[in-house]
Amino acid sequence: MVFTRDLRIDDNPALVAALQAQNTSFLFVFDQQILMSGDYSAKKLQFLDEAISDLSKSLASLGGDLTVRKGRWLEEVKAHVTHVNAAELHIAKDHSNYARRRLTDLNTWCGSQSIALHSHPGITAVEPGQLQPAGGGEYKVFTPFWKAWLKAPKRTPLAAPCAIKKPLRDIPSDLITQDPTAPKGGESFGTRQLMTWLEDSVKSYEDTRDFPSQNTTSLLSPYLHFGCISPLRVLALANNRQGSEAFIRQLAWREFFTQILAKRPDASVVDYRDRGYQWTYNKKQFDAWCSGYTGVPLVDAGMRQLNQQGLLHNRIRMVVASFLVKNLHHDWRLGSSYFMSQLIDGDIASNSLNWQWVAGTGTGNNPHRVLNPTTQAKRFDRTGKYIRTWIPELSELQPNDAIDPSNSIRRKVGYPEPIVDHHQSVKAFKQNATKNNEQKSFYFPNDAS
Ligand SMILES: Cc1cc2nc3c(=O)[nH]c(=O)nc-3n(C[C@H](O)[C@H](O)[C@H](O)COP(=O)(O)OP(=O)(O)OC[C@H]3O[C@@H](n4cnc5c(N)ncnc54)[C@H](O)[C@@H]3O)c2cc1C
Repeated sequence: MVFTRDLRIDDNPALVAALQAQNTSFLFVFDQQILMSGDYSAKKLQFLDEAISDLSKSLASLGGDLTVRKGRWLEEVKAHVTHVNAAELHIAKDHSNYARRRLTDLNTWCGSQSIALHSHPGITAVEPGQLQPAGGGEYKVFTPFWKAWLKAPKRTPLAAPCAIKKPLRDIPSDLITQDPTAPKGGESFGTRQLMTWLEDSVKSYEDTRDFPSQNTTSLLSPYLHFGCISPLRVLALANNRQGSEAFIRQLAWREFFTQILAKRPDASVVDYRDRGYQWTYNKKQFDAWCSGYTGVPLVDAGMRQLNQQGLLHNRIRMVVASFLVKNLHHDWRLGSSYFMSQLIDGDIASNSLNWQWVAGTGTGNNPHRVLNPTTQAKRFDRTGKYIRTWIPELSELQPNDAIDPSNSIRRKVGYPEPIVDHHQSVKAFKQNATKNNEQKSFYFPNDAS
């Protein structure tokens, strides 16, 4: 069995199928190509390493043996499969362009060696492609997808196995740096986090989830990304709890974007809907955005949190993304790629398609959506607590001054002036967008699905 993004023993269909054999060998490969792609921060790698460690312990406690290799993924899998003389191979199905190419190449090789390759569900609760709108293809709009997804037949989550054989472990230690403040990777921590959060916080999720300083969201995204917890198990445990619908809806967004990526793998880098936008690039402005020195407090607070923690609240992700695209007129791909380089939960489907949603090239119906960072701060960070936490220069100020500091306060505390004027920059974006869209015959494609 080759583990990829299903780093758990609970509800793991590939694992259960692999254990039907008389003897099973378990493999995880740190794929050098992914690690070198720029999408892996030290924190994300640390999380992954902890998840592997936890998985290895779980398998060992059952009598299993996880081999860990590092290098070119396909070559390492081939070498291990040859070494253990495997007759069949089990793996979870994944949906990015790269994951599919990897699997196709593995399939070709397995075919040439007469080894049976079986791919299994488990990355999502409902398999991408299982749900289709009346006209076929993928769901392009969330609400009809959400209704169909809720009603869709789902597997019963599978129990973790009770016993396997032989422990041994080898993690390439040169990969790891330790950050004690980062969330701990692995199924054990993910399961604990899930259970505590369901007990304590899901009931108030809908009312509190938009307020970044309250820290009331589940923080499960890295565990879901690496498959340390099963989305189907999360759904089963959350179902019927008071207030859980809003939370389950967010899980469905993850699956909505995954089914789009499965159908349109190029949507990770290509406009899902081409709006004909013309992007600019200004290194000074882009660097100010990345480092959190744009002079716009909510944006800077968000970018500094992202850089320090490798995680970011959903509303703030939307605010900083909107700022880069709609105020600074930079290509969403620059932003999504910077996010991938920093996020622990960086996920091709959720990241690229959320960026496209904010940019207006994605699945949303309103390409002109703009989030005014000051108005957003007044609504969702009324006390300025979030801003004051992440921007030390503003930490001693009164709420209103932290949210929207005057020029004299900025000079006094050493905080920069805004690099663009909000209203002028949005007006320029809209004028440009309208001009470019007039040249296009397909401004609003049919949204019927
Ligand atoms: C520009 C941008 C980039 C993003 N990049 C990523 C990414 O790389 N990886 C990622 O997992 N999420 C991404 N998101 C979605 C969302 O911000 C995070 O999933 C969420 O903030 C994680 O915190 P949580 O686990 O506490 O979420 P909760 O609010 O507790 O939600 C529960 C789960 O639902 C899913 N979810 C919630 N919101 C969304 C959403 N808008 N889209 C898809 N799934 C969602 C996540 O798996 C999350 O863990 C992005 C959003 C934006 C606007």
